[in-house]
Amino acid sequence: MKVKKHKFPGVYIVVEDDGSEKIATKNLVPGQRVYGERVIKFEGDEYRIWNPSRSKLGAAILNGLKNFPIKPGSTVLYLGIASGTTASHVSDIVGWEGKIFGVEFSPRVLRELVPIVEERRNIVPILGDATKPEGYRALVPKVDVIFEDVAQPTQAKILIDNARVYLKSGGYGMISVKSRSIDVTKEPEQVFKEVEKELSEYFEVVERLSLEPYEKDHALFVVRKP
Ligand code: SAM
Repeated sequence: MKVKKHKFPGVYIVVEDDGSEKIATKNLVPGQRVYGERVIKFEGDEYRIWNPSRSKLGAAILNGLKNFPIKPGSTVLYLGIASGTTASHVSDIVGWEGKIFGVEFSPRVLRELVPIVEERRNIVPILGDATKPEGYRALVPKVDVIFEDVAQPTQAKILIDNARVYLKSGGYGMISVKSRSIDVTKEPEQVFKEVEKELSEYFEVVERLSLEPYEKDHALFVVRKP
């Protein structure tokens, strides 16, 4: 087994002895596992295998995402951080120079994040409602990237409303869209077109990517604030 760099800084490729490849991030908190992920050691560093079936961002990278604005040192507003599965990999990538402001409206779910962030201090957990961005104004500065995964009918509006307050000009948004959360009666392609149109009224739409086969009827959009 060996580990090599992925084209995206902070992301790694683990090449198994049989030649198969997996993506991983270098563990910012050696010894900490977040969601039962496999941990491997290579040349003195510890890497956490990124499971694409548990993380839409992981699925997007494996599906050939072209634009990945989250980099070492980035500040990220993460809407729908839940118990931190994906955020833990984002935390590995942004490193100690970066920061994640993670908004979650379920106190029960956020409680599961607390033991993780006690050591992983580049994540700031925020109990808040992403549909009301003013509610966390005292805690969140202008950020480089907003990542949204809330599975709500008004997903595109939530991203735009947060970007107005928190996203730097030239900053990026990434949003995972679940078509069935928006309208179960419509074909996913129709829903994605409507979301793209709504996003394009505020952002430049940079990329749209299907998350199949890892997530059914999901797409990930990368957008840029002009
Ligand atoms: N992104 C997470 C990951 O990959 O590890 C999974 C997120 S899960 C699909 C969606 C989360 O968004 C849930 O934990 C839910 O409680 C939260 N959520 C839904 N609506 C929200 C809102 N308006 N404000 C904040 N969080 C919200």
